[in-house]
Amino acid sequence: MQPHPNTKLHPNHPWDDVIKRAKEKIKDGIIVYQKFTCEKCGTRQTMPDPNKFYTLGDCEECGHRTDIKKYGCNYMAHFAID
Ligand SMILES: [Zn+2]
Repeated sequence: MQPHPNTKLHPNHPWDDVIKRAKEKIKDGIIVYQKFTCEKCGTRQTMPDPNKFYTLGDCEECGHRTDIKKYGCNYMAHFAID
């Protein structure tokens, strides 16, 4: 199967880089949520669990399981502002 073109459009980064940068953020007390692009339908998915990274992601739209380690991912950072 050809991956959906959106997997190239979105700024997904290599797994190892993302994990490294996310760990630094978490150490600084920043909450991060993993994001990835569905390999099949191309929708952008965000994981519901803070500070957790998965190697496989199930799409909420089409149910397809994407190999996140292969396609890369990104994260969304939440800052607590007092
Ligand atoms: Zn999908």
